[in-house]
Amino acid sequence: MGVATALASATRLSHADTPDSDSRAAPLQQFGYHEIELLDGPMRRQFDENHALFLSLDDDMLLKPFRQRAGQPAPGENMGGWYDNSSEFDPHGTFHGFIPGHSFGQYLSGLARAYAVTGSQPTQEKVQRLVRAFAPTITTKFYDDYHLPAYTYDKTACGLIDAHQFAADGKALDVLNAAVDAVLPHLPAKALSRAEQYALPQKDEAYCWDETYTLPENLFLAYQRGAGDRFRDLAVRFLEDDRYFNPLSEGENVLPGEHAYSHVNALSSAMQAYLTLGSEKHLRAAQNGFAFLRDTQSFATGGWGPDELFRKPGSGEVGQSLDKTHFSFETPCGAYGHFKITRYLLRVTRDSHYGDSMERVLYNTILGAKPMKKDGSSFYYSDYNNVFACKGYYKDKWPCCSGTFPQITADYGISSYFHDADGIYVNIFTPSRASWIRGSSRIALTQHTRYPYVPGTQIQVSAQNPESFRVYLRIPAWAGAKTRVAVNGRSVEGDLTPGTFFPINRTWNNGDRIEVEFDMTATLESVDPQHPDIVAPVLGPIALFALGRPASPLRRSALLGVVQTASGSDTWHVDTDRGPITFKSFADIEEEQYRLYHKVEA
Ligand SMILES: [Zn+2]
Repeated sequence: MGVATALASATRLSHADTPDSDSRAAPLQQFGYHEIELLDGPMRRQFDENHALFLSLDDDMLLKPFRQRAGQPAPGENMGGWYDNSSEFDPHGTFHGFIPGHSFGQYLSGLARAYAVTGSQPTQEKVQRLVRAFAPTITTKFYDDYHLPAYTYDKTACGLIDAHQFAADGKALDVLNAAVDAVLPHLPAKALSRAEQYALPQKDEAYCWDETYTLPENLFLAYQRGAGDRFRDLAVRFLEDDRYFNPLSEGENVLPGEHAYSHVNALSSAMQAYLTLGSEKHLRAAQNGFAFLRDTQSFATGGWGPDELFRKPGSGEVGQSLDKTHFSFETPCGAYGHFKITRYLLRVTRDSHYGDSMERVLYNTILGAKPMKKDGSSFYYSDYNNVFACKGYYKDKWPCCSGTFPQITADYGISSYFHDADGIYVNIFTPSRASWIRGSSRIALTQHTRYPYVPGTQIQVSAQNPESFRVYLRIPAWAGAKTRVAVNGRSVEGDLTPGTFFPINRTWNNGDRIEVEFDMTATLESVDPQHPDIVAPVLGPIALFALGRPASPLRRSALLGVVQTASGSDTWHVDTDRGPITFKSFADIEEEQYRLYHKVEA
């Protein structure tokens, strides 16, 4: 019996649907952070950069807004941007001082997870030092005249439960209990949508932007990790059933008009309601919500939510956004939310399409985020505008995306492989090593690949003793008929169905070698059904971004002729009757202008 099933039977609540989890296989397990090592490559570089940057931040600076609001001595510099305790904030003007200390918990969480990945002593010490120093600043006064109490508490709580779980901080759950006592007087009786908040009398508009509907995920996790039963009860109290999960569970698309990232993030709360309480209704809500996201809101990159808003299907507004905004996708936060919900859904359903969706967001959005700077300059929006699209830093220092960036990069390893009693699931094709004990043997799978520049991967097996288990390989839904899997040079028999995990069942010996070759062909994806002639070229998992400002319209057949300039190259090109066009992936674009979508004619 899995943990989730045990918890479900122990804690069934009257409001939850009757679980029928008995008919469903237990969810796939996540590996421990230390069991997956990223090897040299772009994912490892992003993780290392974020780990080093947050490890180097001054403790006093991080604690300053909390100490100030508690009336304590507050040495150290101001961080600047959203993070400061400043009265300058104006919802229609400057965002300096918007949400003091909002992302402290996310930096703590990113560091705790980075410690779990690396075992770095200075990182563990910093986490424990920050928790100790944060504890005496906790007071309910912190939230007096505070715009987004649930928002900041949720991130603080995530940092504390991660300090407990991943950095062995023995005090963190006591500190969490004090933190929840401090915020409760400032929270509403139930989760409130933005519309409900706007209907209440408020001192200024920013008081209407709190995200109480994202609270349950970390409340359920706190309960599971031993913080106490009241965290489960609070999680249930803040499930936004009336406006969100009930209609979603019945197949009603209630995304349009809602704030994008926080409502994707809320789907992970529904998944925790399923995993903790066995509530099938919340699983259906998360599955339907994700399907609406992917099928009605997404760009060819996998990103979504232009100007941070979901759009009405059939309105053509996603396509229109290409002329109207440069704020096309909130990248670190959006990718973080996307990785979490696809991880949950993949584990529960074993449906590889969630892995396909994760890899699309990986290669086309977050891997192209510019590195954070020590002064808090952060990459925020990906820009898909038809003119003058380019990468840049957000106007305000230390925004939301500075908090989710170190979290998602610390999660890259645990997003890449999963396991169950039968074996291991290879989800992301990236230089990495998964190492774990199975039976009496230590097993490691080591991937060497330059995917997606090279359409394949090689996996080396090491085993102390021969061991029998299945290796499940994600065969993306886009994979063509020439896709091949071989073990020790011999083709593996079996049905290689795109859009499934392909199992290889054998007794693995030390030195066995798996080789996968994917058949990648170019397709054109329209931005939405109302703009069938506005298309982006997509090759396997990557959207191809044209450099400069190519003329249009182009012929479809010309654009489909796009080819890599050389085998393994990071550049593609095509000759059209309007001239040659060079393409790169989002991850390889630096300062140059680019264009994602093109007008085409037959
Ligand atoms: Zn953000």
